[in-house]
Amino acid sequence: MLDADFFRRWMTATAVSVGHEAERLTALDSPIGDADHGSNLRRGFNAVATAVEEEAPATPGTVLVLAGSRLISTVGGASGPLYGTLLRRTGKALGEAAEVSAEQFTDALRIGVDAVRALGGAAPGDKTMIDALVPAVDALAESFAAARTAAEQGALATTPLQARKGRASYLGERSIGHQDPGATSAALLIATLAETAG
Ligand code: ADP
Ligand code: MG
Ligand code: MG
Repeated sequence: MLDADFFRRWMTATAVSVGHEAERLTALDSPIGDADHGSNLRRGFNAVATAVEEEAPATPGTVLVLAGSRLISTVGGASGPLYGTLLRRTGKALGEAAEVSAEQFTDALRIGVDAVRALGGAAPGDKTMIDALVPAVDALAESFAAARTAAEQGALATTPLQARKGRASYLGERSIGHQDPGATSAALLIATLAETAG
């Protein structure tokens, strides 16, 4: 079973991972965006880590709702509301339980991913974070490790795609040949989930 401490550790591990990878995320956002994805997420997840440590929410759902709210309030870019919605909606779907099963979490995360799709209008293949998140949630039924692999493969598979959503879509065909920064950060989020699950 997964308790509030598990979700707090996932969020703090993500803040560390995003901090390590911020320069790479910003570099990916340079040719097909505005070179701020790493700094956006570093600011956002640092605020998340501080909030979950200081406020110590008592349930899995409240940890993720708090984390999502902090992302929305601290990240100006498109990724803030999108990741914020992912975590808030996943958290709300977890309800008030003190512990949740991996199956319950998988169902909740799917609701969160669907909310991101509804908010941003992106479908798989549009070269966004959705291309890592959808395969991850599909593979989560198998294991956390499988979800990590699926997310990482999904991020790599964005390279040959033409962007149809977000800033990169303004480039049209010139977006082809570059890995999507948001799919890359989504793979980091799922990698830290797998690491937290051990
Ligand atoms: P901004 O583009 O506002 O500078 P970021 O650089 O932080 O925001 O985030 C860019 C990432 O957000 C993209 O690489 C993409 O994965 C994701 N993204 C952008 N628009 C959408 C959308 N409509 N739906 C899903 N993901 C999106
Ligand atoms: Mg950007
Ligand atoms: Mg920006």
